Amino acid sequence: MIHPTYVVIGHPIAHSKSPQIHAAFAAQFADHPAVSRFVYQQLLAPLDGFSATVKAFADAGGRGANVTVPFKEEAFRWVGEQLTERAAAAGAVNTLVRQVNGAWQGDNTDGAGLVADLLRHIDLRGQRILLLGAGGAARGALLPLLQQQPKSLSVANRTQSKAQRLLDEVAAPWLHAQDVSLPLQALGFDDLLDEVVVADGSQFDVVINATSASLNGERLPIGDAIFSSKALAYDMMYSKGETPFLAQARLAGVHTRVDGLGMLVGQAAEAFELWTGLRPNVAPVLQWMREQI
Ligand code: NDP
Repeated sequence: MIHPTYVVIGHPIAHSKSPQIHAAFAAQFADHPAVSRFVYQQLLAPLDGFSATVKAFADAGGRGANVTVPFKEEAFRWVGEQLTERAAAAGAVNTLVRQVNGAWQGDNTDGAGLVADLLRHIDLRGQRILLLGAGGAARGALLPLLQQQPKSLSVANRTQSKAQRLLDEVAAPWLHAQDVSLPLQALGFDDLLDEVVVADGSQFDVVINATSASLNGERLPIGDAIFSSKALAYDMMYSKGETPFLAQARLAGVHTRVDGLGMLVGQAAEAFELWTGLRPNVAPVLQWMREQI
């Protein structure tokens, strides 16, 4: 039996597309010594057995792991202090990297994957960004978005206090440490109704859906007026057909609408580079994945 050197750990895990994505990346470097032992598989961990599963994987020679639902927060706690800045800010780990001394470092590549995908469509510098949602995915996106030097960053959430908490705990301290000043605002969905936005003149150039409303087929209670004339709408969720949020954006007249498949491939590319030192070409893999779903 060949032991995998890299895995994606989750529960459930059979649906994960990560093995296909990483196999496609590795194929781009077929003759490179860094991928000569690159074997990537799914690894199902019992709900109460994350750390035991990682330990057994490490004992068998494991070099790196992606972590997915529901273990990202547990992985964050499990690595202790061996965290990158972006993983610490995210409060979650989606990538584990085995260090030379055998210890594991926890990183979070989700936000970087999102930004890399956004940059394929729009320059984020100087843009007014609105992030919808204040859960784990939104939290992980904050630092990578701020690093792009937008004009402003607003977070709107069904529970507005959670949006405020994200800004207070993650965005504001980071900006303070960088000595950068940038308008931040926490909003509720009531602030995004047409009449409020029109009266306020507060439109957005980039609107990112990081809520799980699309998963349930639900529309978000937001007005059409939130989108500026050249706005980009991004849904972290992806699907074979149009997602509910992107349908909403289309009806609001938004021309550029992008789903989260590129974020998925992008976060994997970041992890692949962390493990191998090689930067894969995302575009052909994304196109191939699009044909698969
Ligand atoms: P969480 O459960 O951590 O957060 C869910 C968020 O959605 C909360 O802000 C919650 O608001 C909000 N929400 C849920 N239902 C509704 C609703 N009906 N109306 C309005 N707001 C709602 O989820 P994650 O942050 O982990 O994931 C969010 C989305 O991002 C999912 O669709 C997920 O698939 C996607 N994602 C995509 C990735 C990719 O690679 N493409 C990677 C990671 C996530 P409240 O706080 O009020 O409950």
